[in-house]
Amino acid sequence: MNKVQDAIVDMYEQLPVPYGLVRFGVAPDHPEVKNCQDTFSQLASSPRFTYIGNVRIGHDLPLSSLVPHYNAIIFSYGASEDKRLNIPGEDLPGVHSAREFVGWYNGLPQFQSLKPNLENATDAVIIGQGNVALDVARILLTPTDKLRGTDITEQALETLSRSNVTSVQVVGRRGPLQAAFTVKEVRELRNIPSVFFSPILDNGFFPSDKNKLPRVQKRIAQVLLKDYPGPSSPTTKRWSLEFLLSPQQFRGNGSSHGSLSSIDFTRMEYAPDADPFSKSAKVIPSDGTATLFADVAFRSVGYKSASLPGLSDLGVPFDRKLGIIPNDPYGRVIAPVSTSSRTNPSTSIPSPEPINFIAKHIPGLYCAGWVKRGPTGVIASTMDDAFNTADVIAADWASNALFLNHEEGSTGLGWKGVKDEVISKGVRPVSWEDWKRIDEAEKERGRKLGKEREKFGSVKEMLKVLDS
Ligand SMILES: Cc1cc2nc3c(=O)[nH]c(=O)nc-3n(C[C@H](O)[C@H](O)[C@H](O)COP(=O)(O)OP(=O)(O)OC[C@H]3O[C@@H](n4cnc5c(N)ncnc54)[C@H](O)[C@@H]3O)c2cc1C
Repeated sequence: MNKVQDAIVDMYEQLPVPYGLVRFGVAPDHPEVKNCQDTFSQLASSPRFTYIGNVRIGHDLPLSSLVPHYNAIIFSYGASEDKRLNIPGEDLPGVHSAREFVGWYNGLPQFQSLKPNLENATDAVIIGQGNVALDVARILLTPTDKLRGTDITEQALETLSRSNVTSVQVVGRRGPLQAAFTVKEVRELRNIPSVFFSPILDNGFFPSDKNKLPRVQKRIAQVLLKDYPGPSSPTTKRWSLEFLLSPQQFRGNGSSHGSLSSIDFTRMEYAPDADPFSKSAKVIPSDGTATLFADVAFRSVGYKSASLPGLSDLGVPFDRKLGIIPNDPYGRVIAPVSTSSRTNPSTSIPSPEPINFIAKHIPGLYCAGWVKRGPTGVIASTMDDAFNTADVIAADWASNALFLNHEEGSTGLGWKGVKDEVISKGVRPVSWEDWKRIDEAEKERGRKLGKEREKFGSVKEMLKVLDS
C-alpha cells in the first residue's frame, strides 16, 4: 500500500458520534460485525488524525470554506436516503422505510420519534429481499429476551416487547435464486427456535439437480428447502418468503387515520428467454394479481446517496440516477470535459461536429464508500474500496499529480483554518476525547441495564455529557 509521508487527516462527521452505519445500521444482535470499530479507534489515537464530530459539511461548514486549507478532500458520506417504490399509498400510516425502522431500533437521533405501531399489528410485510429486509424480519420475530443484552435501544425493546406481530412476509419481485439475501441471514431466521418458516418453498424454483447451481445459490437452495425441526415451544409466529410479486398499491383501512390494511401486487413470471435458475434472470408482469393483508409494512429496496450542498461549485457533477459522485475505478472524482466545441471560435458559426466529452479527474477530489460505488457491499468490501482510494491518493501525491490549491498552495491549516467559522455559528465540535466521554457514558447507562450500552437518542443528550 502506498503512503503519504507525514500526512495529516481530519475527519468530519455530522453526528457527535462516529461509525456511521456500523453503529446505526448493523443489527444489534450482530455485535461481532462491529469489531471493526476497534481498528478505527486505534487509528484515531494517531497524533496526525483529528476527529471533528457534530459538524455537518455543506450545512454547518460550506465546502468552499474547507477547500483553501487542504490538499485533498475525500467524500465518504454514505447513503442518507432510501429508494422509494413510487406507488399509491406509500405514505400511509403503517408504511415505513426499512432505513427509518433500522435507524429507530439502533438509536439514530433522526428516527427516535418513529413510533411503529406494532402493538396493534399482527401482519407485517417487508418489501425487498436483501439482508436489510432479513435484519428487519429477525428483529420483529426474535424474542425480546434474546435482544435485551445487545445495544438495541430500550425504547425499541419496550415497543418490540408489546408487539403483536405474528406473521412476517418478506416479498421479492423475482425468485429465490435471484434474491439479494445471503445464506447466513436466511439460516439465522430459519434457526429462531420459536418461529415457523412457512410455507416451505415450491421445489419448482430450483433445478432437480441442485449440484448444477453455483456454490452460493446451491447453499441458499439447501437452507431454504431443508426440513428444519418445528419450533421447540408452542408458537403462533411464522415468517415466509414470497416470490414473483411486484407491489402496486398500499391500501388503507378507511378508518379516520386510514392506516395500512393490505398491499396489492402484480404476479411476475420469468421472461420467455430467461433461465429461472440464473442469478440474473429477468421477470415480466403476468396477468395475475395478489393481495397480502398487512398492518405494518417496511419498504426495503435500497439506500441512496444524496448530493452535498456546494458540490457543483467545485465542479462535481453528482449522478442522481446512480446516486454516486462520478469517479474513475480508483475513486478519483471525475467530471465530463468537452474536447470539441459546437461553435467555431473564429467565426462564431455553429460547427456541425458533435460535442465530445472525456471524463477528467478534478484535482484533489476523491471519494470512498457508498457514495463512491452505490449502496451495496459489506464492511469488508467497503474497507477494501477505501484502501484503494487511499492508495491512489498516495500514488497521485508521489507522482506530483495536481492537488487542491496546487498553484497557490494550501494554507495547510486544515481544521484550525475553519474552526472559528464553525464555532461562530454556535456549533459545538466534538473531538475524539469528547466522543470517548460520550462512549463511556453510554456504556455506564448500559451497565445499569445489563447491556452493552444504552445509546443516547438525541444530539442534545450526547452533548450534555460534555457539559458535565
Ligand atoms: C441496515 C444495514 C445493515 C448492515 N449490516 C451489515 C452487516 O451486518 N455486515 C456488514 O459487513 N455490512 C453491513 N452493512 C453495510 C455497511 O454498513 C456499509 O458497507 C458501510 O457502513 C458503508 O460505509 P460508508 O462509509 O460508505 O457509509 P456510512 O457508514 O453511512 O458512513 C457515512 C458517514 O458520513 C456521515 N455524513 C453524512 N453526511 C455528512 C455530512 N454532510 N457531513 C458530515 N458527515 C456526514 C454519516 O453520518 C455517516 O457517519 C449494513 C448496511 C445497512 C444499511
